[in-house]
Amino acid sequence: MKILAIGRNYVEHIKELNNETPKEPVIFTKPDTAILRNNEPFYYPEFSKDIHYEVEIVLKISKSGKYIAEKFAHKYFNEIGIGIDFTARDLQQKAKEKGLPWTLAKGFNHSAPISQFIPKSHFEDPANINFSLKIDKKIRQSGNTGHMIYGYNYIIAYISKYITLKKGDLIFTGTPKGVGPVERGNKLEAFIEAKKMLEVEIK
Ligand code: MG
Repeated sequence: MKILAIGRNYVEHIKELNNETPKEPVIFTKPDTAILRNNEPFYYPEFSKDIHYEVEIVLKISKSGKYIAEKFAHKYFNEIGIGIDFTARDLQQKAKEKGLPWTLAKGFNHSAPISQFIPKSHFEDPANINFSLKIDKKIRQSGNTGHMIYGYNYIIAYISKYITLKKGDLIFTGTPKGVGPVERGNKLEAFIEAKKMLEVEIK
């Protein structure tokens, strides 16, 4: 399986990082070795001094498809979860300045903690889901999927023009504002609506 992710998909987050609003989605990947499951702890890596959290709604692809039409894209995912797109912001900043790829800044080991997944049918409207992140019991990010610049179906259609999606692939759909650094000892908790879905301790 593979992980695809969209950067810059919430206006307020684009502003906080002084980025330009993209004319097309900004897509990047993480290898499968980025996944961290079962609320396991995250060990702060030695190559960065500025690991940031980004809480994101994650889609799980339910069947293979390429060149998926936007109007059929909803048939290609049937489960929704939440994850954290850990980012080595210092490495990413250097890469951005030089116009180089973000691969190591985004794809390092365990940079993608993910929750269990919930059937899409459990949501009245998947395009109107509240989600949030607490660190040490304080709310640090909260968003609603209705505020995405590019919605689920557009993202799936767009990615599948270039990359065939396969059953089990994950798509991180972008983070709302409020990103920031983590420190050893922090306890992160991610919520979909009021339900706690994911816990990560930084070690
Ligand atoms: Mg992100």
